[in-house]
Amino acid sequence: MFIVTAIVIAFSGLVLVAARGRDNDSASMALWGLAMLLGAAGITLLAVEAALGETAHRAGNVTILAGTACAWTAARLFGGRPPLFALIAAGPGLWLAASLLLGPGSPQALLFLACVTGATYTLATAWELSRLDPMPGRSRHGAILLLALHAAFYLGRALGLLLMTETVWLTEREVMLLMMLEALLHTLGMAFMFLALAKERAQHRSVSRLRELTLLDGLTGIGNRRQFDLALARETELGQRDDMPLALLMIDVDHFKAFNDVYGHQAGDDCLRAIAGAIHGAARRPGDVAVRYGGEEFAVLLPRAEEEGAMVVAELIHARMRELALPHAGSPQGKVTVSIGTAALPPALLSGKGEALVAAADHALYAAKAAGRNRAWMASQLAAAQAALRPAETGLRRAEVAADLARRAS
Ligand code: GH3
Ligand code: MG
Ligand code: MG
Repeated sequence: MFIVTAIVIAFSGLVLVAARGRDNDSASMALWGLAMLLGAAGITLLAVEAALGETAHRAGNVTILAGTACAWTAARLFGGRPPLFALIAAGPGLWLAASLLLGPGSPQALLFLACVTGATYTLATAWELSRLDPMPGRSRHGAILLLALHAAFYLGRALGLLLMTETVWLTEREVMLLMMLEALLHTLGMAFMFLALAKERAQHRSVSRLRELTLLDGLTGIGNRRQFDLALARETELGQRDDMPLALLMIDVDHFKAFNDVYGHQAGDDCLRAIAGAIHGAARRPGDVAVRYGGEEFAVLLPRAEEEGAMVVAELIHARMRELALPHAGSPQGKVTVSIGTAALPPALLSGKGEALVAAADHALYAAKAAGRNRAWMASQLAAAQAALRPAETGLRRAEVAADLARRAS
């Protein structure tokens, strides 16, 4: 029975080591496999104890305890926590010291210590798994349950030793058989659970990564329109709830068609990437959302900001564009420039007004274009843009913006 158990456990351990793959969880899976191999080696040593005597007994127990410490460390690594080497050595070291101190005369006390130490590592393993970030799937709960049962089995055995009730119910041979059977079921169950856990997490990660990718712009790597729409819906609601304003910048590259015509589309793409970097770098506060809105247009959403704050970011973007100093032979400036429109809404007006905010910033952007490009305009300076923020007067056309501008210019 000892040997069969050892062979099956060792084989499962090898399967885990072989199946570890190359992802983030490979180290913890290999370590879990190693824990099983140590367990198998320990059981083998205990099996030959009769022939080899005290040394095999000691080596067997120390190896099994090292295996449980190894399993605990595998669970720590799986949770992204570093190994604690002192505590890994503590259990086997403590047992070995006690064994050397007490000698062969106190087998019950040493067995008690081995059971309690093993159960402690097992409970610590369950604790590590319970601290994992929540993810879908049941294998984590299954693994914790198996570990808790395993620990309860050994604590029960320790209690039996303490009360000396064990041999009342079972013969020593039956106790050994029961232990081997439990070890077999537990290690096999845990090997499956660990594989399932790693697979569930790999799936969870790839789904999250895919979800992230759907929110990113393929050309520039910053957020895309979808991310903007989601952020706008979220921030208009949050702004009203938390009584915070929300500001927006709409940014459009000047004379970009001419840039493509002069330098070609590939250079145009490189230019858009550089501009995206400048804009993304200017939106520095956590919660700021910089996206490519579409074509050569970008947008920056600034939660908890007034329009003055948006103008500070606009100035920062213009400064970064001046630093970039990308040549543009088709522009009167000789450099690539951007025009910016800003708008902001106070908290009381925010809810459901995302589209109106975009319309107002858009009006301001066109005003900046009409006023000569390479500048930022505030919606609050424009009657037409302000009107876009009022419910009764939405749907203003560009002509009205132009009329508004003409009035201001004259
Ligand atoms: P304005 O100053 O009025 O904004 O002039 P503009 O030329 O920038 O504006 P227009 O809307 O006439 O042209 C936009 C150009 O942006 C046309 C299009 O070829 C270019 N564009 C849009 N998306 C991309 C892209 O992904 N890559 C490249 N290279 N060009 C793009
Ligand atoms: Mg445009
Ligand atoms: Mg443009």
